Amino acid sequence: MGFFDKLKNGLAKTKAGFTDGINNIFANFRTVDEELFEELEETLILSDVGFDTTEMILDRLREIVKKENITEVQLIKEKLVDIITEILSENDSGIDVSGKTMIIVVGVNGVGKTTSIGKIANYYKNIGKKVILAAGDTFRAAAADQLEIWANRVGCDIIRHNEGSDPGAVVFDAIQAAKNRNADMIICDTAGRLHNKVNLMNELAKIIKIADREMPEVKKEILLVLDATTGQNALSQAKLFGQSTGLTGLILTKLDGTAKGGVIIGISNEQELPVKFVGVGEQVDDLQPFNAKEFADAIFS
Ligand code: GDP
Ligand code: MG
Repeated sequence: MGFFDKLKNGLAKTKAGFTDGINNIFANFRTVDEELFEELEETLILSDVGFDTTEMILDRLREIVKKENITEVQLIKEKLVDIITEILSENDSGIDVSGKTMIIVVGVNGVGKTTSIGKIANYYKNIGKKVILAAGDTFRAAAADQLEIWANRVGCDIIRHNEGSDPGAVVFDAIQAAKNRNADMIICDTAGRLHNKVNLMNELAKIIKIADREMPEVKKEILLVLDATTGQNALSQAKLFGQSTGLTGLILTKLDGTAKGGVIIGISNEQELPVKFVGVGEQVDDLQPFNAKEFADAIFS
């Protein structure tokens, strides 16, 4: 199965909830009136697009309908799909891997950081990159074990220290290893326990500082992993991490587990951060670089 089919499959719940909801509205209205807009508003909000983004979409839609004097219901649907695609495209930038790259992956426990790192490593290994993993979640030994299983599966190197050791030291060693072994990419896992917020944020800041100091010339991506099934809660996580870590992008996981895939629209709009990868399942190839056009096609076609 190609990735587009995997994406479509993974988004089956969202298609059944969000897309079918929108299609039903357009199937049930013959004329363009206020009630149509109200039903659309409700469906968007129920699909976790978020209040602000929903209002923005409807304002734009009303404006276009008025300006172009649209009376055909089906045409309004096309305009709606265009607006959503545009929002997703505004922040669609991909990852530049032409030079050496460091990706630091952050996020709260259980969102899918370690799993995503394994999948990203696999993706770049398959296109010929030499990848080193850094086991920066030193809080539990099991975290490094889990990353090591991925490293073995993918066939890439991993740098890990003992449980409880300093994550900054792990990152330092991974950087030296990457230099010695001429690796193209370091992907760094981090801890996500939020009950000790201040320490966690300090720890992340330290990792980033070490990376900047040891490899000033290397392009760094700080990616926040968000679990799509947590809905609006994901937005508050993005704010929290954004304040202290200078995020450059997002990874949205578990889109296969929710009918509310609309969350991606609100997140990319309100955070003004590009979505770099989307996860639609637990298999190694169920995470791929995000492409706005492809994503919109997968849910609307
Ligand atoms: P971490 O605590 O952030 O490192 O999270 P993990 O990588 O350990 O993942 C937590 C759970 O989420 C695991 O059971 C993963 O298999 C699962 N998971 C991660 N990404 C996806 C996804 O895109 N879809 C589904 N269905 N499960 C996922
Ligand atoms: Mg983990």
